[in-house]
Amino acid sequence: MTGERLTRSTPDVGPLRDLLAEWGEPAYRATQVRDGLVVRRAPLASLTTLPRTVRELLAEALPETLVEVTRQTSTDGLTAKFLWRTVRDPAEIETVLMRNPSRSTVCVSSQAGCAMACTFCATGQAGLERHLDAVEIVEQVVRAQHASPERVSNVVYMGMGEPLANYDAVWESVERLHGDYGMSARHLTISTVGVAPGIRRLAREALPVTLAVSLHAPDDELRSRLVPLDRRYPIAEVLDAAAEVAGAHGRRVTFEYAVIDRVNDDLEHGHALGVLLRAWPGVGGAHVNLIPLNPTAGFAGRAPDPRRVRRFADVLRAYGVGATIRRNRGVDIDAACGQLRERARPS
Ligand code: SAH
Repeated sequence: MTGERLTRSTPDVGPLRDLLAEWGEPAYRATQVRDGLVVRRAPLASLTTLPRTVRELLAEALPETLVEVTRQTSTDGLTAKFLWRTVRDPAEIETVLMRNPSRSTVCVSSQAGCAMACTFCATGQAGLERHLDAVEIVEQVVRAQHASPERVSNVVYMGMGEPLANYDAVWESVERLHGDYGMSARHLTISTVGVAPGIRRLAREALPVTLAVSLHAPDDELRSRLVPLDRRYPIAEVLDAAAEVAGAHGRRVTFEYAVIDRVNDDLEHGHALGVLLRAWPGVGGAHVNLIPLNPTAGFAGRAPDPRRVRRFADVLRAYGVGATIRRNRGVDIDAACGQLRERARPS
């Protein structure tokens, strides 16, 4: 953790104390500010125990890194999608807040765009703009928290970008969310398309974050057509690396599978996947999360009939492989997996 930059999402108490001292403020103010912004995760403007002049000075001294462009809320009010412009460039990124009665989950972007070019993913179709830095990632969580009456307890790195292609910034954001914001490591889920060396690096980290691996096919021939990175890191290597994480963290790994009608959802795909994952040596066994394909502009595939998806799940279960079907939250606001930024830019 560098702590060089004093920003609103992660104000380090030492530099903050120096800054407040320059303004002639008592030492306890630094703790007060940090408690408000980080522990309680409140917006600066709401910290009314601080004198107004101090709040105004802080607003300038602790810059935000994201400017809110738009916010869309689903008809049930439980899912919200934020479009931000980064102050640095500007690049455009998106974040999704999913509210639940007891806790909320935030889906963060780790890059502006993505270089992985998965054929069915809207972000992949657009290419990579740049990596996000740790503060820009943490700030997405904090800003979404401001819109959530429930405490945000879970963060999934399933927005735009490939988190393991931006390892250092992503890991710094994990340490910040865990250390500063008090989130449990197992409630932080890193989802990867299968960057095997990055997965192995995760296995060596002390914080046991949760791993999700995007598989999408039971064999390399099909997978490489959907996920170009498969040519570099084929399924066997990715599964090996994932087993290392499962062993090191003592936690179950989830495999994501975007289900595409007549492409990867035939019975033989289900059987092949069952055979593959039944034999996988990872601790806790494999769990498959089936995501019915969300339509994107650059890909002709469709989501299967729900009965086909259920049948696919049943085949996996027959092999003792856990399978769940993901509920598509936020489809009405294009906030579902792989849809981010598709219609974000005004044309
Ligand atoms: N780069 C990371 C995070 C990407 S988004 C990864 O690949 O895991 C999280 C999940 O959404 C991934 O499993 C991704 O494959 C999936 N996804 C992307 N586009 C989708 C789409 N159009 N429909 C359904 N799932 C999609």
